[in-house]
Amino acid sequence: MSGSTENPRHDGKDPEGVMSNPSRPVDCQQLVELLGEYVDNQLTAEQRVHVDYHMEQCAPCLAFLRQYKFAPQAVRDHLLQAVPVDLEDRLLSFLKKRTRG
Ligand SMILES: [Zn+2]
Repeated sequence: MSGSTENPRHDGKDPEGVMSNPSRPVDCQQLVELLGEYVDNQLTAEQRVHVDYHMEQCAPCLAFLRQYKFAPQAVRDHLLQAVPVDLEDRLLSFLKKRTRG
């Protein structure tokens, strides 16, 4: 009766961990990881829902998105220095990954 052979799917390629928890809203760190694709309109509809939902409840992220969205690339780099340390670290790693790819 107890099917102990069934394990949760950890097989899917989901480095952000966002889509693996569709019932949970994204947190600030996950939002940062999606930010670049969000402003480029490259997110799926579902991802956009999560981002929009987070923005409605998180003023700092909303403010940062607005700055980031309308800033040229050079200014974006400068913006990263204004975010909290934790976010900055995420943003830097995110942008590095993005520019390298
Ligand atoms: Zn936030």
